[in-house]
Amino acid sequence: MLHSKPREDKHLHKGLRKQLVQSLREKGIKDERVLAAIEAIPRHFFLDPAFERIAYEDRAFPITAGQTISQPYTVAYQTELLEIKKFDKVLEIGTGSAYQACVLAEMGAMVYSIERQKALYDYVGQFFFISKYPNIKRFYGDGYLGLPSYAPFDKVIVTAAAPYVPPKLIEQLKPGGIAVIPVGDDQGQKMMRITKDANGNVKEEELGDFSFVPMLGGKNQ
Ligand code: SAH
Repeated sequence: MLHSKPREDKHLHKGLRKQLVQSLREKGIKDERVLAAIEAIPRHFFLDPAFERIAYEDRAFPITAGQTISQPYTVAYQTELLEIKKFDKVLEIGTGSAYQACVLAEMGAMVYSIERQKALYDYVGQFFFISKYPNIKRFYGDGYLGLPSYAPFDKVIVTAAAPYVPPKLIEQLKPGGIAVIPVGDDQGQKMMRITKDANGNVKEEELGDFSFVPMLGGKNQ
C-alpha cells in the first residue's frame, strides 16, 4: 500500500499511464491540464507493488480501512467539473489515498483535504510521495463541517457519497465558486455541480451516475 520508502517510476509505468490517459480522452475527458496531471502522477505508488499493472486500469481499488482509491475516470470527471486554476483554494472531503489531492496539487491548486479516519490520515502522513506537494494541507476531522477557519474556498470537492448537499460546505464556497458532490445513497449517486454566482445565489446541476463509499458523520479513531 502507501509506502514510506520511495518507489520507482519506470518506462513501463509511464507507458501504461499514457494508455490510461488516452482511454480517459476517449471516455470524454477534455481538459488537457487534468489529463497532464494524471499522466504525471505515478498511480502505482498509491497501491501495493503487487497491483502495479492494475494501478493503470480505469477502476477503483481498495486501499486500507475499507476505503477506496477512486476510479481514474471519476477523478478526471470531478476535477474537470471544478475548472481548476493555478492557486485555486480547494477544499476536499475524503483524503483517502490522497490520489485526488495530488492531482489537484499537480495542477497548482492549494489543497485543504479532510479525512475522518485517523488510521488513514496517519497512513498518508507516512507516504513518501506526499512530500512532493507542499501545497496539500491535510486535516483529521469531519468533512460535514468543512474548515471554517480556512474558508472561503474557490472550489469544493467531495469524494464520498453524501446523502444531501452539506450546507456548511456551500457556505464556505466563495462567490463565483464551484462545488462537485456525489449525492445519493448506497444504491448510487448523481454527481451534483453547485455554483455560487457573484451575488451569492446558488445553482444546482444534476450530472452523471456514480458509486462512492459513504460520507459518514463524525470522526473515527
Ligand atoms: N479522494 C480519495 C477517495 C477516497 S474514498 C482518493 O483519491 O483516494 C472516500 C474517503 O472519504 C474515505 O477515505 C472516507 O474515510 C472519507 N470520508 C467519508 N466520510 C467523511 C467525512 N465526513 N469527512 C471526511 N472524510 C470522510
